[in-house]
Amino acid sequence: MPTYPAEPFRIKVVEPIRSLNRGQRVSALQAAGYNIFGLRSDEVYIDLLTDSGTGAMSDRQWAAMMLGDESYAGARSFYRLKEAVDAIFGFRHFVPAHQGRAAENILAKVLLKPGQFVPSNTHFDTTEGNILDRGGRPVNLTIPEAADASNLHPFKGNMDLAGLEAFIDRVGAENIPLGMMTVTNNSVGGQPVSLENLRQASAIYKRHRIPFFIDACRYAENAYFIKQREPECAQLSVREIARQMFALADGATMSAKKNGIVNMGGFLAMNDDELFQRACNELILREGFPTYGGLAGRDLDAMAVGLWEALDEEYLAYQVGQVGYLAQRLLEMGFPVIQPPGGHAVYIDAGAFLPHIARDEFPGLALAIELYLEGGVRAVEIGSLAFARKDEESGEMVHPLMELVRLAIPRRTYTQAHMDYVAETAGRIAARRKEIHGYRITYEPRLMRHFTARFEPL
Ligand SMILES: *Cc1c(COP(=O)(O)O)cnc(C)c1O
Repeated sequence: MPTYPAEPFRIKVVEPIRSLNRGQRVSALQAAGYNIFGLRSDEVYIDLLTDSGTGAMSDRQWAAMMLGDESYAGARSFYRLKEAVDAIFGFRHFVPAHQGRAAENILAKVLLKPGQFVPSNTHFDTTEGNILDRGGRPVNLTIPEAADASNLHPFKGNMDLAGLEAFIDRVGAENIPLGMMTVTNNSVGGQPVSLENLRQASAIYKRHRIPFFIDACRYAENAYFIKQREPECAQLSVREIARQMFALADGATMSAKKNGIVNMGGFLAMNDDELFQRACNELILREGFPTYGGLAGRDLDAMAVGLWEALDEEYLAYQVGQVGYLAQRLLEMGFPVIQPPGGHAVYIDAGAFLPHIARDEFPGLALAIELYLEGGVRAVEIGSLAFARKDEESGEMVHPLMELVRLAIPRRTYTQAHMDYVAETAGRIAARRKEIHGYRITYEPRLMRHFTARFEPL
């Protein structure tokens, strides 16, 4: 039997959830156009759609919210957040933003010109969307091991360093206004990036004078994996490892909805003074004054506390352990699960699980729909629906590495009995996998189609 450390907290407030019957779920799904984003939360029993902003805040965070200073400029809340961000991340400047994509939007606005390239180990969908929206070209340079779900490489989130060198040589550093790294690498299974890989990528960017920004959403989980798996770091604290990671970069975008354990919040950090000035001007236009950045003072306080809590190593052992537990149970039921499991979610290789469904008929969507119909479990497709797009140069469809379904684990929210329920629901689907069919799109928007597209069964 797989196990993991018992919850390092007890429950003080409860939120009731209930399960619909199968007939009600069928109607709910049809009304949503077969898009699980269109479901009402009341129609879902276990919601593993995302770990973003869905975690449970601590009593200390709720208490801190009462201290929120709602002054327009110079609020105490901002300075408390600044203390935490400075101490953990160590960049010269930062501006709060209401979430990660707002930070990405500002970064893209101040650095990117149409036609320019932005390489990364793998961009997240909102990062990719923000780059595309400014006429830029996102480029993913993931190591080949990441495409093999059963490969046990300890750092499958790594950047393909030779690929990065070759790419810079091919398009020229002058056409790359910034380079990025996503830690952990959400789009290839929440896989960590090693400190060594960050170090080398940073050196390559530096040699070519390309500013290097870390997409830091899950940096604490990444640092925890580094401590577990990179021998030279075994004796360091997660916080010390995080400092070493950020010391390699010129800045970072952060969604505190992940490793800040808040329901809303984020920031953009950087060292460059002039860039900071431009970011502030942009922030004022889009988010708000630089000491609140689209957030209430109380949100800044909750973030200041949550950033520290996410670095607690007992908590990290439990969080990563809970993800590993669900992964192991699904594996035992015959699901091809990405291994080793990442820090925030279990990823099922739906392409391998449903090989009879073509990539453009969305095996990941088909599996996500079955999880809902079978047990009211909401998970999300991270495959061709979310990421396939036409290449501007060749006009060909570029598919992501894999057709995945992600079961994200909200932080400090569900119990082991909930995880068992999810595993048992999935087990019943495994028994009838051959009967599952694909889907066709009946409506899609120009960008980020997976959020609002509608479908019909084939
Ligand atoms: C969630 C996420 C973002 C965007 O953050 P939001 O707060 O959802 O806007 C960016 N990058 C990664 C890797 C993410 O997981």
